[in-house]
Amino acid sequence: MRADLDARPNLLGFMASELEALVKTLGQPSYRGRQLHHGLFHKLLPGVAAISDLPKAFRELVAASFATETPSIHRQQISQDGTRKYLFRAPDGVTFEAVYIPEVAKGRGTNTLCVSSQTGCSVGCKFCFTASIKRWRNLMAAEIIGQIIAVQRDVTAISADAQVTNIVFMGMGEPLLNYAEVTRAARILMDPEGLSFASRRITISTSGIVPRIYDLGRELPVQLAISLNATTDEIRNEVMPINKKWPLAALIQALRDYPLQPRRRFTIEYVMLRGKNDSLADANRLVRLLQGLPVKVNLLPLNGHERTDYTSPTEATVLAFEAELRRAGMNAIIRTARGRDIDAACGQLGGADHVQNG
Ligand code: SF4
Repeated sequence: MRADLDARPNLLGFMASELEALVKTLGQPSYRGRQLHHGLFHKLLPGVAAISDLPKAFRELVAASFATETPSIHRQQISQDGTRKYLFRAPDGVTFEAVYIPEVAKGRGTNTLCVSSQTGCSVGCKFCFTASIKRWRNLMAAEIIGQIIAVQRDVTAISADAQVTNIVFMGMGEPLLNYAEVTRAARILMDPEGLSFASRRITISTSGIVPRIYDLGRELPVQLAISLNATTDEIRNEVMPINKKWPLAALIQALRDYPLQPRRRFTIEYVMLRGKNDSLADANRLVRLLQGLPVKVNLLPLNGHERTDYTSPTEATVLAFEAELRRAGMNAIIRTARGRDIDAACGQLGGADHVQNG
């Protein structure tokens, strides 16, 4: 049965300074706000009730008006390659997923957490499982931060050294269609008194919500990824209907106008679909389209599922496409799908829909 959303604001959606100001409105000294923040964001305790250095009366006062818990982990799957997929369930019954991807590169651990920003998506990309979910809503900043804290708590319990080092907004949903909550979550992530992620370790991915790309460039120095997936308007209109609203020329112009931080590049995601966007002519058009832009191109052979008609290209086609881009001097890499055996790869996230159908 569907329960209502908890009406209490969740303090995981607050910066450290905001918590200090908030406790003052409750007639408490500001240091109580710092203690509260420390318990939730540094010790990663599962809620105010567990912050034992706070007086019981204060804990009860906070709990009466505010939620402090992370979303509950409803199911967890672990891939043979170490990838972990978490299914969260909110009090109103919606579900959403986050994927933890541990990697060792150049001798250092880079553990990326892919978070959801919505519990479905209205953009309707034709290769994407999330697009097929009927009942969905935006996630609040506290629910986005809650995914990160809950996963960090879980992986630390397995290995004290495990640390989420990078956050990518590439899970369920179009982040820039939930702009206010996503940018609030990014600010909380970067809060130097809180989780203190460097801006270069946060990537927001978009299908091309052009006005919001301009807003993001003005407001936040995070990394930007574009889910491009086609080199002509004709094909992109078919694969990603959002292109009818903001066609390729407008999207590429937004990148040319973007105030990119020094020594950074845009990430271009290109999901390869057999016979649709995987020809050498496509590769050459891609080179021309991105000419002069600092980019790295991630080639993602489609991870097929039952709710798309598209199929994955052959390995030879993918290799030839990559070689063509490299010949033109482009920084391109084929991304091997992580967590494929648990449906955690790109475009496969679907919350409870996928648990039932996957
Ligand atoms: S690929 Fe991203 S933007 Fe497109 S439908 Fe899926 S979740 Fe939405």
